Amino acid sequence: MSSPNAAGLHDLDASQLRITPTTSLRTVPEPDSAEVWGVKSCTDHMVTVTWTDDYGWHAPEIKPYGPLTLMPTASCLHYATQCFEGMKVYRGFDGRLRLFRPERNCARLVLSSTRVALPAFDPRELEKILKAFLKIDGPRWLPKSRPGTFLYLRPAIIGNGEQLGVTSPSEVLLFIIAVPWPDLSTGSPPGAPPRAPGLKLLASKTETRAWPGGFGYAKVGANYGPAFVSQIEGRKSGYDQILWLLDNQVTEAGASNFFVVWKTKEGKLELVTASLDSKIILDGVTRRSVLELARERLVEGSEHLTSEVKALEVVERTYTIFELEEAWKEGRLVEAFVSGTAYFITPVSAINYRDEDLDIPMGDGTGGHYAGLLKKWLKDIMYGNVEHEWGVVVDEE
Ligand SMILES: *Cc1c(COP(=O)(O)O)cnc(C)c1O
Repeated sequence: MSSPNAAGLHDLDASQLRITPTTSLRTVPEPDSAEVWGVKSCTDHMVTVTWTDDYGWHAPEIKPYGPLTLMPTASCLHYATQCFEGMKVYRGFDGRLRLFRPERNCARLVLSSTRVALPAFDPRELEKILKAFLKIDGPRWLPKSRPGTFLYLRPAIIGNGEQLGVTSPSEVLLFIIAVPWPDLSTGSPPGAPPRAPGLKLLASKTETRAWPGGFGYAKVGANYGPAFVSQIEGRKSGYDQILWLLDNQVTEAGASNFFVVWKTKEGKLELVTASLDSKIILDGVTRRSVLELARERLVEGSEHLTSEVKALEVVERTYTIFELEEAWKEGRLVEAFVSGTAYFITPVSAINYRDEDLDIPMGDGTGGHYAGLLKKWLKDIMYGNVEHEWGVVVDEE
């Protein structure tokens, strides 16, 4: 039993973890199979942790994967008291299991949780719980015989207190599930025609995803459901994702951050992405990593520069679709790509704005040179081809 904190509540405490192993193992699907593309065949176990307003965080549990029980009055079913994370665990080419900057995801979950009046916790405890979970399900679901594979991890928090009263929930459930996930950045489902490389984006017309004073910076479910209407419209007209505009400002694409490489009118090469300042966009872990790598390696004198990859300036600022359109018209647009855990680094081949398709250069045909290089650098870290502090090893014994 842990002791309560100054507020009389118990903190999230990984040392209290209780483990109930499953007695019936689930079938591990073949990589890239139809089952994997269904993204619902979870691993053998899941994590659950209950929080109540009179106790705080109860002992975390790892138990067999299975249904949750909720009352119809559960807060999350009515008031969107929900938030989540998306991260991956990778089986390295050196045989080891790694998370990518997990402390960032754990900290962001606290930010999202508190934005919708759900409780905070020490993100380091969550990271320990996550590692304990992967120690159990990692070896079987990401066998050493399959280097270069990954599982998608979905930590989530829901208000499950029984209360129809319009107020913050008195009981909360944190859970973590892991699921084999297809390679969305290049592949297509079995039987489907191979996809042309590059995402086609449709700039949002009247709808917007987030706004000043809202919650676009938090990974809360309330940001996603309402966006599906535009997404469906886009898919019907042949576009993969929506490029979300806010009063003509370019923000993000689907559930990914958006980057463009262009030359300024003065001929300066820039890597540009929307700034975090107005709290409209999500502070993506991949976005941050792209910016940090670019600032470190895409500078004059760097060993990484080639005839195609020149030094550039990294710019985080508010910019408009008109600037993008102008750069395109003047032939200054070099490439564009999206970044995120789900789509990783995926080049963008077209942007439809007001019924006009801006075709974006795609380098050698598979994607721009910067996107390709950044993707390689990140992959090398995730799969242990290079030692880097962002690649956090999970002990398996
Ligand atoms: C999750 C997400 C991203 C990407 O964040 P990563 O941490 O890089 O996975 C970007 N935009 C939105 C809206 C998201 O939900």
